[in-house]
Amino acid sequence: MNCPICGEDTVKPFRPFCSKRCADIDLAKWLNGSYAVPSQREDDLDDEIQDAGEFKDRPH
Ligand SMILES: [Zn+2]
Repeated sequence: MNCPICGEDTVKPFRPFCSKRCADIDLAKWLNGSYAVPSQREDDLDDEIQDAGEFKDRPH
């Protein structure tokens, strides 16, 4: 059985997907279908990581 998202072999905890990532992608498809909103989750995540990095480097 293969992951419907990327075609890799499935992994038990994430069936029918190969990973949480692919399960999230499938979920996002459903959510996007419901709300018709472009996905910005990864952009938001990058911003958070950058902000955290700046905060850490910033002298106080
Ligand atoms: Zn997959």
